[in-house]
Amino acid sequence: MTDSSISNSSKSKDWNHQPALPIQTNPLFNWPPEPRLAFRWFAKNWLALSQVAIQIVLAVVVYLFIFPPLEEMAVLQFGWVFKVWLTNIILLSAFAGSMHFYLYSMRKQGDKLKYDPRDLGKDSGVFTFRNQVHDNMFWTLVSGVSFWTFFQCLVFHAGASGLAPLFEFSSGYWGKLLPLIWFVLLFFLIPLWSSFHFYWVHRFLHWPPLYKIAHALHHRNVNVGPWSGISMHPIEHALYFTNFLIHLVVPSHPVHILFHAYFQTLGAVANHSGFESLVYRDKKQIQLADFFHQLHHRYFECNYGTVEMPWDKWFGSFHDGSEEATTETWQRKKRMYQSQ
Ligand SMILES: [Zn+2]
Ligand SMILES: [Zn+2]
Repeated sequence: MTDSSISNSSKSKDWNHQPALPIQTNPLFNWPPEPRLAFRWFAKNWLALSQVAIQIVLAVVVYLFIFPPLEEMAVLQFGWVFKVWLTNIILLSAFAGSMHFYLYSMRKQGDKLKYDPRDLGKDSGVFTFRNQVHDNMFWTLVSGVSFWTFFQCLVFHAGASGLAPLFEFSSGYWGKLLPLIWFVLLFFLIPLWSSFHFYWVHRFLHWPPLYKIAHALHHRNVNVGPWSGISMHPIEHALYFTNFLIHLVVPSHPVHILFHAYFQTLGAVANHSGFESLVYRDKKQIQLADFFHQLHHRYFECNYGTVEMPWDKWFGSFHDGSEEATTETWQRKKRMYQSQ
């Protein structure tokens, strides 16, 4: 028997499944404050099995058992850079590959909680190799992992060689309790920083001349799949991964840097999966993609940020899933391109 909580719901002819509307963003920024709602929002991310929880566990495991020691990274050498690249390419391939295999190749949950009713593109001149999945894999693995590795190695090398303020528990320069508070707090601040950075970089990428040169490549994916997450033009990768540079000025432990990397890459893979949640044994096991970014891929000039911070609400580009918002979005797009 099918659990009623996982049945598709859609009042629109455009979607196979829609969440309850209007779309919610992080209530931490609601005014007047609603602490209970904000607590529930963070509890969903941090106290249950969630993408963020998986990313933190992965960051700890990779730091303890796989990553090169800091002393080695203090000197620029091919060996450890290659190890970082190899770890990144294996993790990203395993994550996107298994999600694609489960949801699209084997269709293990059919169309349950799938937003867009269509299949991924095949035999279409829009895509490199005329195939959406092959196009997305190519740009992700060749350009995406290279830029990711470059920026990650840059901050690790800077930290290890003393050029950046790498945080270590043993440093002890802030007393005993403060380092622990900072260590925990940074896991909450990184997603907020990421949302802030992404909103502005992404808005810039939608400036029509830059859109045509670079960002249009990511937007080949009107309907998205797991491999679409990091499928971007090299110019976009170069901008997207500058968010790691925050670690050059903010004291961070290597586990923070790794978590940040997985939030930025594996998080994007899940958020482009095209499915609201992973369903196994007729139960929602874990949340995958929010409808917020799915709407961005369908209607373009809306929802430039993420649900973690309401930048789009503050600057008038928020699409809450309603038909009125779609009309407004098409009008905004027309105005943007008429003025060019
Ligand atoms: Zn996207
Ligand atoms: Zn975009």
